[in-house]
Amino acid sequence: MDQPIFRFAPSPNGELHLGHAFSALMTQQIAQANDGKILLRVEDIDTIRCTPEGTIQMLDDLDWVGFSWDEEPRNQSDHFDDYAKALEKLRSDGLVYPCFCSRNQIKSNANGEKDPDGAPLYPGTCKHMSQYDREKRMQDADAFAWRLDMDKAIEKVGDLTWQELSEDFTEVETVKANPAAWGDVILARKFTPTSYHLSVVVDDADQNITHVTRGKDLYFATAVHRVLQALLELPEPKYLHHGLILDDEGKKLSKSKKSLSLAALRKRGWTPEQIRVQLELEEEEDLDENGD
Ligand code: GLU
Repeated sequence: MDQPIFRFAPSPNGELHLGHAFSALMTQQIAQANDGKILLRVEDIDTIRCTPEGTIQMLDDLDWVGFSWDEEPRNQSDHFDDYAKALEKLRSDGLVYPCFCSRNQIKSNANGEKDPDGAPLYPGTCKHMSQYDREKRMQDADAFAWRLDMDKAIEKVGDLTWQELSEDFTEVETVKANPAAWGDVILARKFTPTSYHLSVVVDDADQNITHVTRGKDLYFATAVHRVLQALLELPEPKYLHHGLILDDEGKKLSKSKKSLSLAALRKRGWTPEQIRVQLELEEEEDLDENGD
């Protein structure tokens, strides 16, 4: 069998927290147990919130907590042309259309319908515009989004599934993808030729990723990724969506909660070993008397 290739793909748009440490170290443990390679991808397409300083701090935090990676990290901001090419293919296949709706318009037209992330479901307002109106509004609008025509996409690719691995890597479940639940997702914007969904599938393919390990918060998004992989004729990796690290109130950790960032814990004197024990990735007795 070819060597499995894993990746950890954080965004440097805020300080990494215990949840990121868990995802990175868990991926590393699985990669090591399976003689795999592990790649680091810097998901920095949001060039306003992701700064070079943020990336430096992110790499330093990862190194400190004991995560190591093979090869130079891949920065998404170096690959906008690749995403633009993928978008162009979808556009020439007639599968994307420009949308001029504001957030508020979408919210009020969605009639309470939500996507799997709980955001208002886009009701398809701009889907049936004439070509003339589209061209004109694209020239005039300050901003617009490129949306995937999900009905057409599903018609083209048919029913899709993905392979979900158990955390101990011993079992595989075939999961039926439900991309329709997301509606016409945004793939790019007037001045940003990509989105998370588009760049993640292009990169996973370019980096020959065989196993995608990431948090359960992205479980349902995999349906969108499978559709894009099928439309762009990209290979299908296997997936493992791990449990999330929750705060004391049972909520998912977020980057806005600075108190639990790796940088803050490090400042308070935590050691990387204590973090691994806290995350139940290492046994307490592995620590020596000094807690090191
Ligand atoms: N960049 C995403 C995040 O930080 C993860 C993307 C992925 O693993 O597919 O949440």
